[in-house]
Amino acid sequence: MTRIAYVNGQYVPQSAATVHIEDRGYQFADGVYEVCIVVNGRYWDMEGHLARLQRSLNELQMAAPMDIEALKVVMGEVVRRNRLKNALVYMQVTRGVAPRNHPFPPEGTRPSLVITARRFDLDQSDAKAKTGVSVISQPDIRWGRVDIKTVGLLPNALAKQAAAEAGAAEALLVRDGVVTECSSSNAWIVDETGAIVTHPKTNRILGGITRQTAIACAEELQIKVIERPFTLEEAKAAPEVFITSATSFVMPVISVDGVRIGSGKPGPVAMRLREAYKARAARG
Ligand code: PMP
Repeated sequence: MTRIAYVNGQYVPQSAATVHIEDRGYQFADGVYEVCIVVNGRYWDMEGHLARLQRSLNELQMAAPMDIEALKVVMGEVVRRNRLKNALVYMQVTRGVAPRNHPFPPEGTRPSLVITARRFDLDQSDAKAKTGVSVISQPDIRWGRVDIKTVGLLPNALAKQAAAEAGAAEALLVRDGVVTECSSSNAWIVDETGAIVTHPKTNRILGGITRQTAIACAEELQIKVIERPFTLEEAKAAPEVFITSATSFVMPVISVDGVRIGSGKPGPVAMRLREAYKARAARG
């Protein structure tokens, strides 16, 4: 079936969808994005993703392409036109099209908005969680404002490529010995008391929406949450390691740089949290 994309006011076959060569997203990575999941026709954590999109726009003094209510209509329409029940929806906003010049384009330049959707396989995600995934470490060479969800993802892509070449699913990013997060997910460990530990929400990590919901789930389950930096060594010695993102939910990690984590099987805390996350997200 032809995939339909929303591009600047029009729904078009994705194969025919194009952006201008002087779009600032293309030339300067001057754009922000969100990835959301739809399960059984319902967006998970939609409000959180839209709030973060608004924050990214504000931090970069970028105009919103339309108001939030209109955006929700388009998001629904993209899923409907692609006839998807379970979907991964990608939304990107850039500062628009202008002759190439570093400073912002003139006031009134229209931001570009692109929304695409593709099928999301929930069963495949659950199958992966059953076995757990391996990760490797990579240096965190990103800029100082990774709390803004920009399309400037080259360091993330390089880290993920290194992981793929090592047969791993993700890369733990390490700065000054501390694990900040992963190339496209947040990183967590379970400590010896059973508490879950993740890097505090600073400008060194992206404040994951799944991270936020996982914290709420942990509190419901009376699992203690500690937001503090942890080292790569701590991760390798931890009883459990797991990662979170909109597309992986809560995903257990069974090895870091080839070092087995715990029993080498998905840990009980991560699995409880995954089930709680899925139940909460489905509830809305
Ligand atoms: N960190 C990075 C660098 C990411 O790209 C993502 C995925 N967008 C996350 C964390 C997780 O965020 P979320 O839970 O909102 O998907």
